[in-house]
Amino acid sequence: MMRIFGLRGIIVIVSFDLDDTLYVSPENFKTEEALKFPWNRIYKERLRLGTVDLFRRLQAEGIETWIYTTSFRSEKYIRRLFRHYGIKVGQVVNGSRHAKEVQGDKVEPMPSKMPGRYRIDLHIDDDVSVYQNGTMYGFKVFLVGPPDDEWADKIFNEAMRIKSLKR
Ligand SMILES: [Mg+2]
Repeated sequence: MMRIFGLRGIIVIVSFDLDDTLYVSPENFKTEEALKFPWNRIYKERLRLGTVDLFRRLQAEGIETWIYTTSFRSEKYIRRLFRHYGIKVGQVVNGSRHAKEVQGDKVEPMPSKMPGRYRIDLHIDDDVSVYQNGTMYGFKVFLVGPPDDEWADKIFNEAMRIKSLKR
């Protein structure tokens, strides 16, 4: 009984920014294949190469993979894009959900992202200000930047490290 309860207690959540984190320009980055016509006309964003495999590896470890973007793309659009790549995403926090649930009617401006509000263990982003807010507000951010063939391994290893600490 205790063991079952203990296992259920281990939930690790990793969230990903979209723009310049998972959605990158094929001019500067290796990317996943574009979707087939006509989907490539609807979903124009290109995923950083390794995204599909990384999501699968994390999910195989029972790690939840969420999207946290300041953009106002709809949840439905985001889910469907990933669906076309065979990936099911966990929760989606977009600009409007953040505005409603994090900013709410607070007078003080809240940071652009508050992964801690959603018990997200690790947030992946390209924006240094998000990283700095993490230091200030106590949430963990892994910064991605220019092309890096190891990016997915680094994130996977960090997520596994967090998972082992939570055990
Ligand atoms: Mg970004």
